Amino acid sequence: MSLIVQKYGGTSVGSVERIQNVADRVIAARRQGHELVVVVSAMSGETDRLLGLARGIRANIDGRELDVLLSTGEQVTIALLAMALEAKGCPARSYTGAQVQILTDSAHNKARIRDIDGARVRRDLADGKVVVVAGFQGVDEMGNITTLGRGGSDTTAVALATALKADECQIFTDVDGVYTTDPRVVPKARRLDRITFEEMLEMASLGSKVLQIRAVEFAGKYNVPLRVLSSFQEGEGTLITFEEESMEQALISGIAFNQNEAQLTVAGVPDQPGVAYRLLGAVADANIEVDMIVQNVGADGTTDFTFTVHRNDFEKALGIVHSRAEALGARQVTGDDKIVKISIVGVGMRSHAGIASKMFEALAAEGINIRMISTSEIKISVVVDEKYLELGVRALHDAFELEQPRSGQ
Ligand code: ASP
Ligand code: MG
Repeated sequence: MSLIVQKYGGTSVGSVERIQNVADRVIAARRQGHELVVVVSAMSGETDRLLGLARGIRANIDGRELDVLLSTGEQVTIALLAMALEAKGCPARSYTGAQVQILTDSAHNKARIRDIDGARVRRDLADGKVVVVAGFQGVDEMGNITTLGRGGSDTTAVALATALKADECQIFTDVDGVYTTDPRVVPKARRLDRITFEEMLEMASLGSKVLQIRAVEFAGKYNVPLRVLSSFQEGEGTLITFEEESMEQALISGIAFNQNEAQLTVAGVPDQPGVAYRLLGAVADANIEVDMIVQNVGADGTTDFTFTVHRNDFEKALGIVHSRAEALGARQVTGDDKIVKISIVGVGMRSHAGIASKMFEALAAEGINIRMISTSEIKISVVVDEKYLELGVRALHDAFELEQPRSGQ
């Protein structure tokens, strides 16, 4: 018998009918002989609705009372799911985070889990019950309700799976797994049977929104096998796991893209110690996150900097850089928010040479100009004009033959 933690997101529990459907799935898994702990999110839109109410009182509300409010969304769905299970003849019990004792720090609205007391849950499992737990919430040492940050139910599920030493943590959502790229851009994108934690983290931080990044980090750290599946369709989903020696690696596993970036260039900066700090430090001080950074080799005593920021921060960053550039005696500042970043990701890169040139060749063949390049051990990113997004992603998907299943899968 294995212990499985299942998590159902907001869309999966978005109505009473959908909650009935979740109950059927839970019962089916139980019939296969598994013990089940089920974590649920609030009904889709509910957390936003509650936030809206709070903002009607004060615009930038946060802190303790917001957590008391937001945690109610999940209290509704645990009760409804437990009722649905019981109504179908399956013994079940629901618990809030505080009742389980999901102990967190006191950082309201973005608390971190410190410890989980699994005793109560284990007792119910031993009694043959399905245990339903509210996602996204916990309690601090003083008994205050806390929440874990938006999308935090994934983290609750992974943390529970870790604490209970579950055999697998299954995240049910509205997509049936992790794809080679966004199927809306490349219709022949393929669902991956497996992906490594490292790849998943890169894909997630590059903008693929299947899982909360923190949950993936947590599962990787504690070695909990994580599976993403659809709550509306049958299927095996995608297993996120560690790299296995025996696994025949594809060159790359997936293509991620980010349409929310903007590029800034400062040309003709005097090439002296401290200029990078004075330019980019000022941007960071304004709480603007800088993504890619390129500094050219200096020539004639000057150098050029190009970097990217989130599009929402573009105007603000441009203002800061203009004033700094003037103080530094730079020649020119330019900016462009009609750019996108396209990245190829894969642990296969470690053992294969020539992946970058294959990427550049595929883009060149389509006449796509590359503006910036950055690489890490398992990722190569390029910045190109926004108008080339679809063409670029499709060309790369073809060049790396991502529509073909990897051998060994
Ligand atoms: N209900 C919370 C949110 O909307 C937590 C979650 O869905 O994971 O962010
Ligand atoms: Mg969610």
